[in-house]
Amino acid sequence: MRIYNSATHKKEEFQPIESGKVRMYVCGPTVYDNIHIGNARTFISFDVIRRWLIASGYEVTFAQNLTDVDDKIIKRANEQGRTAAEVATEFSDKFIGVMRAANVLDPDVRPRATKEIGPMIAMIKTLIEQGHAYAADNGDVYFAVRSDPNYGQVSGRNIDDLMVGARIEENEDKNDPLDFALWKAAKPGEPSWPSPWGEGRPGWHTECAAMVHRYLGTPIDIHGGGSDLAFPHHENECAQATCAWHQGFSNTWMHTGMLLVDGEKMSKSLGNFFTLAEVLEQHSAAALRLLMLQTSYRSPLDFSWERLEGAENSLTRIAGTVENLRWAANHATADADEAASEAFAAKAAETRAAFMECMDDDFNTAGAMGAVFGFVTECNQYLEQAGDAADKAAALAAADTLAELLDTLGVELPEPKVELPLGLLGVAAGLVAYTGDDVDEAAAKILEARAEARAAKNWDLADAIRDQLKDLGLTIEDTAAGTRIKTL
Ligand code: AMP
Ligand code: ZN
Repeated sequence: MRIYNSATHKKEEFQPIESGKVRMYVCGPTVYDNIHIGNARTFISFDVIRRWLIASGYEVTFAQNLTDVDDKIIKRANEQGRTAAEVATEFSDKFIGVMRAANVLDPDVRPRATKEIGPMIAMIKTLIEQGHAYAADNGDVYFAVRSDPNYGQVSGRNIDDLMVGARIEENEDKNDPLDFALWKAAKPGEPSWPSPWGEGRPGWHTECAAMVHRYLGTPIDIHGGGSDLAFPHHENECAQATCAWHQGFSNTWMHTGMLLVDGEKMSKSLGNFFTLAEVLEQHSAAALRLLMLQTSYRSPLDFSWERLEGAENSLTRIAGTVENLRWAANHATADADEAASEAFAAKAAETRAAFMECMDDDFNTAGAMGAVFGFVTECNQYLEQAGDAADKAAALAAADTLAELLDTLGVELPEPKVELPLGLLGVAAGLVAYTGDDVDEAAAKILEARAEARAAKNWDLADAIRDQLKDLGLTIEDTAAGTRIKTL
């Protein structure tokens, strides 16, 4: 498996530190508001990556923090006349809920910053003892960036260039404008914890370094986040961890491309965002994921409702093919053509191989989905040609292949929707002699009644049955392999 390491700008052969095991950390959200689909793009991308590592046989330990104390949370709490803890709890719960709704697997460990103050203080102490950090007169503690000879190793930045381009605000408490806060002295009304440097709270970068160390042990195999986190957040996490513990921090750095709207990064501050929750009210989680899978996780992704609609249609098309394959397998009435079935069966195997090859090449989901779509077309061609003589084993294997490959990436196919609403039984009873409550049996009776009506050239009755179904959002479809009731 090859993974693009954004710290080296190269695709590298993936070698886990411990054979067969992967330790992985992805920075979680700051819980001051509902997350938007830009944030979700990053979390869904890493969910797909994690799922593929698991599918490849690795035992993956995945940790993700919740930043539950931060300027933005405090500001929101003040605006709403609530405590920071109340705001953080509300949006932590909402985050966890909406991630599950998006079919993102729960992390194995989900540490919260406010519960990890002890390990953070311990790390800061270690850094001070080793001359990498200093307590300022104002009660802040800063990391001395120039004390780290490897600073810049994650984001490829050079300290002197940073100085030139720095929009880093002057701060007279810092020895050097590049230095960053590990600990922030409490201001009145802010949540705070006691520390050797007085009441205060940890800096954001401090949190992840301490949690990675505590829950996964450094170095880890993969550290990820959106590309906007590479600098300064990941650079600073890495500087602290490597200076504190004198070992690597993460062997591979992975950064996701930004989700854009009209060419601009989706962000809270620009106001050009849609929350994940609102998008999932209108569209399936599977369609959103499918949309994301069609672009490499590293590239920018243009979001539009049209594209999401398109993904929803693609999903319906795949689900329809899966359903048609299963139906054809179970309703075949003639003998299958052996050569055609063998050729078709081979296509399923080829698709799996192509899919795997793409995924092993830096999680090329766009290529993998290309293989899936190509196979869908082949399945449809096969069904067309086979008519009522589909090969049962080959058709079922093809359906399973499609469902399984999508499942590996966390895309849930919509359930086949041929269920008849219960009301139909009553409605149809006027036209069709059926009074039971078995939906399949009712469907069979209705179709039989329509076939009889047509055979008897009783077009009025045949049409009445069709119209009644239509009123219920159902349609009668005549396929090569027989007639059935489908949703419109
Ligand atoms: P935050 O809560 O701002 O730290 O963001 C949580 C995660 O979402 C981080 O990994 C960010 O890099 C990521 N993120 C924020 N905006 C976008 C975007 N427009 N596209 C993709 N990822 C994003
Ligand atoms: Zn982080």
